[in-house]
Amino acid sequence: MSGPQPPAPDPIAVAAELARSLPERMRALAPACVPAPQEIREHLERAWGLDAPRPAAEVVRAIAALLERWSTHVVHPRYYGFFNPSVTPEAVAGDLLAAAYNPQLAAWTHAPVANELERHLLRTLGAAAGFGAPDEFLAHFTSGGAEANHSALLVALTHRFSGFGREGLAACTRRPAFYVSAGAHDSFPKAAHAVGLGRDACRKVGTDAAYRLDLGALASSVQRDRRAGFEPFFVAATLGTTACGALDPLAELAEFCARENLWLHADGAWGAAWALVPELRHCFAGLSLADSLTLDAHKALQVPMGAGIFFCRHPESVRRTFRTATDYMPAAAGSADDPYASTMQWSRRAIGLKVFVALASAGMPGVVGMLRGMAARGDALRAKLAAAGWSVVAPTPLPLACFTHAGLGTDESAVRAAADAVIATGDAWIAPIRAPDGRWLLRACITSHLTTDGDLDALVAALSTLRARA
Ligand SMILES: *Cc1c(COP(=O)(O)O)cnc(C)c1O
Repeated sequence: MSGPQPPAPDPIAVAAELARSLPERMRALAPACVPAPQEIREHLERAWGLDAPRPAAEVVRAIAALLERWSTHVVHPRYYGFFNPSVTPEAVAGDLLAAAYNPQLAAWTHAPVANELERHLLRTLGAAAGFGAPDEFLAHFTSGGAEANHSALLVALTHRFSGFGREGLAACTRRPAFYVSAGAHDSFPKAAHAVGLGRDACRKVGTDAAYRLDLGALASSVQRDRRAGFEPFFVAATLGTTACGALDPLAELAEFCARENLWLHADGAWGAAWALVPELRHCFAGLSLADSLTLDAHKALQVPMGAGIFFCRHPESVRRTFRTATDYMPAAAGSADDPYASTMQWSRRAIGLKVFVALASAGMPGVVGMLRGMAARGDALRAKLAAAGWSVVAPTPLPLACFTHAGLGTDESAVRAAADAVIATGDAWIAPIRAPDGRWLLRACITSHLTTDGDLDALVAALSTLRARA
């Protein structure tokens, strides 16, 4: 006779322990592993028929093992890739609360405190970043930067063209056109498609030698469009372009947009977080003049995906864009906005909880210190690359370096092969990118608050070894 069975391990405790110890285990893993789809599919067919129950704690362990085996580990301190952060334990803990309590954000009355926590946080964050005083803007969380940019375009259309909400583009007597730099994020043409403008309405404007939007080119493009019968209505300045980390000249753009009656959106999905750092604030001059702003907490702020934020200085236009009324939704509470009627989403996870727990734990000084440290590591990376004989192209104050050397050239295949060779060492993940002028460059971005100077040395050493071998 066997004695009483020990209680089954608690799946939440197992998952929490795996999450807690992940940073220690992570350094032993290669940042990247890219299996063939078939390899994973065959494993799932074989091992995961889903036809019988299994102990949940075992399932949790097995799935974590799969994630460790078959992922590009964006939380790895030597993942120098596309703005995907190492996450802080505080943020992970906040996300667990969101999953467990599962507040339904759609209607204020269903999640009063979760809604108010988000409101409080976003008013504080927007003001700290220099977007404006808390009463000057409305803000909400989004799935990410793409949704925030899409929201900006939609709100700007609704703001400008009075019949747009009811009749769509038929209400626009002239065809709307808008402007982004050649280095802007591709969520803009996608949003142009989604809102019915069509992708061609997104004009890609040339850049200067630092890969920043060129004001002269913008002015010519706007004039040309007006003469051709289009109605320019919107400009998106990028604060930290994806490939090169360029900061478009926001203050000059604000002046231009005010003069030309154009909505100015600042896409700072990654870079705008550094507006929180006092000594970098000057790089974001003009932010208080932008009509709207995108900022992703799931990038520089080291919070799990997804946590985009849309800030807008025209609350009534936001409400007009997303308004709706139904019989089955609970009635609004006093002056509070119901998210289902003032944002793109309807049912929504409490995205803000993880951000709130992370920011409240670190305090603003802690967040600023972390961002300052990452920026300093960016400076160190550029200096180390230069000292090792690399030419750093179009430097930015943000922690990102694009670099090349004469022997490598700027053709796609050679630069891709160089990045692949770094990844194949298992020591680091870097990317090949095409700069707005067409040159292919190597790109390394400090996306993790855990990246140390030693990690940077390892990257530069790997690059030097591979270059010597080439
Ligand atoms: C990441 C990024 C986006 C898209 O944001 P998601 O969070 O991936 O949806 C848009 N613009 C810029 C500048 C970005 O860095």
